[in-house]
Amino acid sequence: MNIHEYQAKSLLAEFGVAVPRGHVAFSVDEAMEAAGKLGGPVWVVKAQIHAGGRGKGGGVRMVNSLEELESAAGDILGMQLVTHQTGPEGKEVKRLYIEEGCDIANEMYLGMLVDRGSSRITMIASTEGGMDIEEVAANTPEKILKVMIDPGTGLQPFHARKLAFGLGLSGNQVRSAVTFLMGMYRAFNRLDASLMEINPLVLTGAGEMIALDAKMNFDSNALYRQPDIQALRDQDEEDPAEVEASEHDLNYIKLDGSIGCMVNGAGLAMATMDIIQLCGSSPANFLDVGGGATTERVTVAFKIILSDPNVKGILVNIFGGIMRCDVIAEGIVAAAREVKLDVPLVVRLEGTNVDQGKRILADSGLPIVSADDLGDAARKVVQAVSEAG
Ligand code: ADP
Ligand code: MG
Repeated sequence: MNIHEYQAKSLLAEFGVAVPRGHVAFSVDEAMEAAGKLGGPVWVVKAQIHAGGRGKGGGVRMVNSLEELESAAGDILGMQLVTHQTGPEGKEVKRLYIEEGCDIANEMYLGMLVDRGSSRITMIASTEGGMDIEEVAANTPEKILKVMIDPGTGLQPFHARKLAFGLGLSGNQVRSAVTFLMGMYRAFNRLDASLMEINPLVLTGAGEMIALDAKMNFDSNALYRQPDIQALRDQDEEDPAEVEASEHDLNYIKLDGSIGCMVNGAGLAMATMDIIQLCGSSPANFLDVGGGATTERVTVAFKIILSDPNVKGILVNIFGGIMRCDVIAEGIVAAAREVKLDVPLVVRLEGTNVDQGKRILADSGLPIVSADDLGDAARKVVQAVSEAG
């Protein structure tokens, strides 16, 4: 789960990480009020969307007077902000963050993530802040510093000092950086984050470390024990189909291909996507309907798959273990009738009562193509789509 910059900064501040003062605003009036509280004379108006690259897209403006602030807030609020992370359609800006202007001496980079290779929380820092870290890593890998943190000891001050010296800091700057990094680590751990990124991490004219931008992602499997984080969710920023799926306990992730997939079990879903690719097409989504594939859930799943205009055919691949294939087949037939399916549907069932299940599909009178195994199913759906297309 993602949150907004202003929310991330407020969380970080609770852990003693230095951030500029600021207030969120949902209207130009609130922006003016926020500016009044901050006092100026320099403010920064920042679009709050769940995507980076806002500065380049015109979503971050520094202003020197209340008149300028009013016009910047009016321009940014409601704009369709396009950045390299939003896709060409952009995202509508519904919230602003009004922040005090910061005296930037140096822009650096700090990232923290769970590194799957080493199974450790890893801190990544670089003097090359403000720009794409991927580019720095590709062109000048020597400018990327990494510290892997043993979960037994946690982040130790010597780790933090190593990073600070690596960033070329000295004297009081090091002290400020150590406080900053220790706070970051505590926040990451305590909040079950999966990623935190501070870009730019700024050294101010006064030699203090401060987070000028903040991005945080959380481990969705841990959200059950983080009610305060869950409360920060902004559904406006999420794909509507993914929101609906999560309300029905369906694991759905939209992708760019043309074959809709409905599968039970994440492993089988991954294998199904792979084999579609192998047959020369690509999946329109990942969808795990889970163990209890009832008629209602299968119907919702069909609707969600069909809400994507790119879907040209559907492949249902269900293993009836606990669920019996006849029950699943009845669910598929009822759901296909209800949603008035108008793209080819290929179904591969396997498991308990599979023969009964196939008979129900065949007797339904619906143009459902039955398949015998995974390869057969993928070939049939790709072929049906190319014939229909
Ligand atoms: P994004 O990464 O989405 O472009 P940032 O928050 O990193 O957004 O802002 C972009 C740039 O704007 C920063 O690199 C920094 O130069 C400038 N900036 C952002 N916030 C402030 C601030 N409070 N004071 C001064 N400059 C800022
Ligand atoms: Mg940034």
